[in-house]
Amino acid sequence: MEYYISISTLNDFIFCPYSIYLHNVYMDTDEGMYQATPQTKGKIAHEPVDSKTSSNRKDEILSLPVLSEQLGVMGKIDVYRKKEKKLIERKYQLKQIYQGQIYQLWAQYFCMVEMGYEVEKIAFYEISTNKAIPISLPTVENKQELMGFIQSFREYNPATPFVANPNKCHHCIYCNLCDKTEENNVY
Ligand code: SF4
Repeated sequence: MEYYISISTLNDFIFCPYSIYLHNVYMDTDEGMYQATPQTKGKIAHEPVDSKTSSNRKDEILSLPVLSEQLGVMGKIDVYRKKEKKLIERKYQLKQIYQGQIYQLWAQYFCMVEMGYEVEKIAFYEISTNKAIPISLPTVENKQELMGFIQSFREYNPATPFVANPNKCHHCIYCNLCDKTEENNVY
């Protein structure tokens, strides 16, 4: 295994593979240079978990680093409730759940299972509406699908020609820095 893919980038890769390349180029720069309002809100939503201040419940593990040798991914989970054996990913807003977000939750689940945790339930939690959204546990077929997706991520070459989708570019945090488009983002 050459390197571990960050679970947090799986959804971005589906949105636009080139954004992963830009993320790596600009990751050491000031985030204010490119982060748009939704990303900032999402980040703030995660801050209490990342700084382990959002819960005093003894049965909760917050912000646990996780890794899967088998999948070649690493990241951090938001919340694991020990009694319920439940893994929860918090999002500020979830008007729609994208496949990439499901992949992220599946990847976290497989990491935890590989690390020896018992996980019987997985769910999203929408902070803005205080709503839990249960997700089915991934099947064997789902795991194969996820592994195929991770492989395509691993093999991606940013030099591969592609046509940018203006609708996506309008909502992309890298829009004003991207050499593939002349669009401006809407934020
Ligand atoms: S601006 Fe468009 S082409 Fe560039 S990374 Fe974003 S979505 Fe992809």
